[in-house]
Amino acid sequence: MIGLEIHCQLTRLHSKLFCPCKADYRGMEPNSNTCPVCLGLPGTLPLLNSRAVRQGAALAISLNCTPPERLAFFRKNYFYPDLPKNYQITQFDAYGDTSIGSNGIIRMDDGAEIRIRRIQLEEDPGRLIYEGGSDGHQNTLVDYNRAGVPLLEIVTEPDFDSPRQARTFMNILADTVKNLGIADPHLDGAMRADGNVSVHGGSKVEIKNINSFHDLEKALHYEMTRQNSLHENNITIQQETRHWDDRRRITIPSRTKEAELDYRYFLEADIPWVVLDIDAMQEIANSIPESTTARRDRYIKQYGIKPQVASALMADTHCCHLFEEALTPDTALIIANILTTDFMGVMDTREKRAASQLNAEHLSRLAALLNDNKITRAVAKDVLYKIAKKGGDIEDVLDAKIFDSSKLYEIISDVLKREPTAAAEARINPPAINYLVGIVMRETRGGANPQDVLGILGELLNR
Ligand SMILES: [Zn+2]
Repeated sequence: MIGLEIHCQLTRLHSKLFCPCKADYRGMEPNSNTCPVCLGLPGTLPLLNSRAVRQGAALAISLNCTPPERLAFFRKNYFYPDLPKNYQITQFDAYGDTSIGSNGIIRMDDGAEIRIRRIQLEEDPGRLIYEGGSDGHQNTLVDYNRAGVPLLEIVTEPDFDSPRQARTFMNILADTVKNLGIADPHLDGAMRADGNVSVHGGSKVEIKNINSFHDLEKALHYEMTRQNSLHENNITIQQETRHWDDRRRITIPSRTKEAELDYRYFLEADIPWVVLDIDAMQEIANSIPESTTARRDRYIKQYGIKPQVASALMADTHCCHLFEEALTPDTALIIANILTTDFMGVMDTREKRAASQLNAEHLSRLAALLNDNKITRAVAKDVLYKIAKKGGDIEDVLDAKIFDSSKLYEIISDVLKREPTAAAEARINPPAINYLVGIVMRETRGGANPQDVLGILGELLNR
C-alpha cells in the first residue's frame, strides 16, 4: 500500500501566512525576508492571511473535500533549528474537522479512486544549508526567508496500487493547483511529496527528501522491492522514517527519530477560530475553473469518449480549445479521434500543434463530412495533414481528392482489364474481391469510398 503526504506552497500570494514578509522568497539574500513574527521573537502575534484561507478552500473544494464550518490552528511542538518558535502553526482535528478540507476524492484515468484524508493550512519552516554537503558537513547554516511561507499539506489515504499511479496523481495535483492559479508547481521546492509504503500488512515506512515526481516513483519502487525482499526472508519490517538518497538511488534510515516524536498539539490561542461563511465558500466554488479531471470526466460521460483519448486531449490545452470550439453532439467523438490520432501524429509536439494552421472551422467541416460519409477516414487524414502544415480551405484540398462515380467506373474497368486472373477468382470466390478493392483504393490514393468501390466492382464483375 502506498499513501502520499504532499506539501504545496501557495506561491502566488504576496505575503507569508502570519506576517507581511514576502511569500516569494526565492533568490533573496539569506535572512533578508524576515520580521519579528516569522523569527518567532517573544511578544509577537500572528495575523492570519485571509487570501491563503480562500486559496486553501479553493483547493479543498476542487479535490471534492468538505470544507469545515470553522477552522482552528494548532501548535505542533518540536525543537529543530529551522523552526525559530520551536513549534509550527498548523491544523489538527482535535475538536472535529477543523482543517481546511477533509474526506475528498480524486478519480484517476484508470478508474481508481484516491481518497484525500485531509488538507491543512500551515507554515513552511526555514531552510538548513549544510556547508560541504549533507555527509560529514562542518557547518550548518540556517536561512529563515522561507519560514512562515503559506503551505498546504495534502494527505491521501493509502490507496495507490503502484509507484506509477502515485506519480500520475502528483501530475494531476500539479495541474489542479496551476489551473486554480494558487501555485506554480514547477518552482524548485514548491511541491514536495513524502511517501508511505507498507507491504503484506507490515509496518509503515515513511520516505522523505524526494525532490521530483520522477524520483518519487523511483523511491517508492525501491522501497517496495526492499520491503518485499525482507518479507520473503521473514525479517520484520521496522516502522521508521527513511530518506531517499538521490545519488545512490536507494532509501536509507533517517538519523533523526522523527516517527517517535510526540508533538503535543495544542490549540494556537493567538489565532481565533475562523468561521467559514457559507456564501463566501459558495462564491469560491463558483469561481473555480473546471478542473482537468472534471473536464475529462465530463468528456467521457457527455460524449462517450474513451478515457485514454480524453486524457490525451487534456494533456494539451490547445487541442482542448480546438475540441470545445469545433464539437457538436454528433461529431464530438470524431473530432476527439482526429485530434488525438491524426493531428497529434503529424504535429508531434505541443509547440508544433500550437503553431499549426488547423483551426476549429476546419475540424468541424472535416468531422461533418466524415459523419455524413461524404469522405473516407483516409481522405480526412490526408486533408488534415495538408491543412495542419500549410493551412488553406478544406474544399480546395478536397477538390483534388473526391472522385465522381464516372471516373471511378473508368478506374475500376481499367483495373479489371489489367487483373483478369484476380477478376476471375473474385467471380468464383467472393472474399477475393478485397484484393481488387485494395488495388482501386491505392489507385485513388484512398480517395474513393470503399462501399462505392465494392458496389461498382460487383456490378462490373457480374456483367
Ligand atoms: Zn515575517
